Order: sequence, then structure tokens, then C-alpha cells
Amino acid sequence: MISPHPITIVGGGLAGLTLGIGLRQRGVPVTVWEAGRYPRHRVCGEFISGGGQGSLARLGLLGGLRAAGAGAATSAAFYAGQALVAARPLPAAALCISRLVLDDWLAREFQRLGGELRSGARWAGEFGAGMVRASGRRAEPVADGWRLFGLKVHARGVVLDADLELHFVPAGYVGLCRLPGGEVNICGLFRSTAPVPDLALRWRDWLGGPADSVLHARLAGAHFVDDSFCTVAGLGLRPQRAAQRHECSLGDALTMIPPVTGNGMSMAFESAELAIGPLAKFSRGELPWAQAQAAIARDCDRAFSTRLRWAAWLQRALFQPSARAALLFVVARSERLWRGIFARTR
Ligand SMILES: Cc1cc2nc3c(=O)[nH]c(=O)nc-3n(C[C@H](O)[C@H](O)[C@H](O)COP(=O)(O)OP(=O)(O)OC[C@H]3O[C@@H](n4cnc5c(N)ncnc54)[C@H](O)[C@@H]3O)c2cc1C
Repeated sequence: MISPHPITIVGGGLAGLTLGIGLRQRGVPVTVWEAGRYPRHRVCGEFISGGGQGSLARLGLLGGLRAAGAGAATSAAFYAGQALVAARPLPAAALCISRLVLDDWLAREFQRLGGELRSGARWAGEFGAGMVRASGRRAEPVADGWRLFGLKVHARGVVLDADLELHFVPAGYVGLCRLPGGEVNICGLFRSTAPVPDLALRWRDWLGGPADSVLHARLAGAHFVDDSFCTVAGLGLRPQRAAQRHECSLGDALTMIPPVTGNGMSMAFESAELAIGPLAKFSRGELPWAQAQAAIARDCDRAFSTRLRWAAWLQRALFQPSARAALLFVVARSERLWRGIFARTR
């Protein structure tokens, strides 16, 4: 019997670990290289919305994540400045869990199944047959003249009107999401034409919103969990096609979807699930590498192209004040439109 070809995954985030787990469930030898260490905070709204929950269920991971503290979110409210503009039930429940817990839980599960995890180890080599890039976003310092960056912090003592509140501020948007255990995740996406060098000092100004805003009032009594603060810059949100990537790429390494959709983690899980079958076949010698890579790229493009187009449109509209006001006005009045946008962006 021919021994299986091992798979090497670069990046032990959501896409890499989920793929590693799926491959281990099929007996494939897998090594994951992860530059960081667990547990660690990540910039993320920590709101999992979309088909990725199905991927987690099919991989048998949903029950364990619920036991680890993942909770359901069923309502959303949208604010601009001093006003609540719309409040809506979510057409499908989202799953909320801290990345501190989620990534660590997946890493342990991968190891429990016999996967080799090299944490604190950055891959610097080439990507050949049997290698998967799940290394997260590809840095894009300036996109269309704008620098996009994200900030996240957890806090206690914040009372929300809905499981997810989305506050629109002049430079972007800030999501407030209820987490199990009484903490709230505060995560914002912002844009600036000039470099913003002092984020570590001024993050409260960015996440806190203008002085007269609902967001500012919400956070007035917040007790920030300082060591949860993290930041990420160089975000590029232009949709990419897997077929044009030279490497087998999954999750954010394939393409990023605008965070407003709350669908990025879902895409990481979904793309990992799509890759398991072809990679397992390659490992068993039943599929040449080029064909395995092409099958994964085709399936990812089929699954993601439409939602990426809609999400890019939504992101553009939300950054133009008049388009955003019109969109929120209609969402507040039309359940059908709200459901339509929700469905098309995930
Ligand atoms: C502001 C903001 C808010 C967001 N909010 C949400 C949200 O509410 N809901 C949602 O679903 N998504 C959200 N996202 C998106 C979500 O965080 C990502 O889509 C998701 O983390 C992608 O997972 P991934 O596994 O592809 O990448 P990551 O989670 O980034 O993991 C990649 C891993 O690769 C490692 N790595 C990188 N290079 C190497 C190397 N050379 N060698 C070894 N390891 C390496 C990194 O250390 C990292 O651990 C948000 C993103 C931003 C920026």
C-alpha cells in the first residue's frame, strides 16, 4: 500500500485549523505551521453569520464549540450618529464566540485528532504540491487611495439593545456584539487617506465614536479588557478569484469579504470544507496536485463569487453618506429588502 502524501498548511487560523481537522478525520497526515501562539486575540467582530455554521456542523464541531461558550445572536440594530435607524431580527441566527476561545479550541481539537501543530513557527519557504496557504489577509497598504484598518477590544459594563449593534461613524463602522460571560466585543473597520501611526494610544477615540453619538454613550461606562485590544492594518477588500491564485489558498488568503457582512469566518470554514475532499484524494494518490488545486479553486469561486460582488457593493454604499442613509432608510422600512441583502451577502 502506498503511504499517504502529507499535507502542509501554512496558517493556524480558522481556515487552516478547520481544514486540518477535516483531513485528520479522514486519516490524512497534516502539519500546520502557525506563526503565533494560542490563545490569542484577533481583530474580529466575533459574529459568525452564514453557511460556515453548516460546515462546522458537518465536521462535528458545532456541539463542542457551543460547549466551549459559543452563543446565538438573533437580533441586530443599526445606528447613525445620535439615532437608532433600524432594528431587525436576524433572518438566520449567528454564532458569537471570542477568537481567544475559538482558535484555541480548534487548535486543541486538531492536535487531539493527531495533527502536528508547529506554533510560533513562521513558514518562509515555497508553496509546492500538497501545500495550502491559509495565512490570512494579504496586506494591501493602500486600496483606491484609502488605508483600511481594524481595531478590537472587549469590555464589560456595556448594555446593548440587540445581540449585534452596528454603529456608523464618519470614518467607518463599529460593531458591538454580545459575547457569552457578559463581555461585549467592540470591533471597528475604519479608513483614512493618511497613515494613522498612534492607534495604540488613540484607539478609544476611534472606537468610541463622536461625542454626541449613541456609540459614545454606550461606551461611557465600559470597563475595557485592555489585553484584548488588537489592531490590523493593510486590509484589501477587493474580491479575488481562486482560479487566479497560484497557490491553493483558503480563507482570507484567498479573498476577504467586507467585515460588515459578518461572513469572513464563515468563508474560512466553508473554503476549508470544500478543500477536504480533493486534498484527501490527492493524499491517497487518487488525484494529481494540479487537478486537486483546480477543483478547490472552482468550488470556492462557485460558492463565493456572487456574495463577494454583493458585499463589495454594500461596503461601497456604506462608505458614502448619502447612499448609506438611503440604504438604512429602506432597510428600516422593508423587511423584504433587509432579508434580500442579508441572503445575498452570505
Ligand atoms: C475589522 C474586522 C472585523 C471582522 N469581523 C468579522 C465578523 O464579525 N465575523 C466574521 O465572520 N468575520 C469577521 N472578520 C473577518 C475574519 O476575522 C476573517 O475572515 C477570518 O479570521 C479569516 O480566517 P483565516 O483563517 O483565513 O485567517 P486568520 O484567522 O487571519 O489566520 C491566519 C493565520 O495564519 C498565520 N500566518 C500568517 N502567515 C504565516 C506564515 N508565513 N507562517 C505561519 N503562519 C502564518 C497567522 O498568524 C494567523 O494565525 C473581520 C475582520 C476584520 C478586519
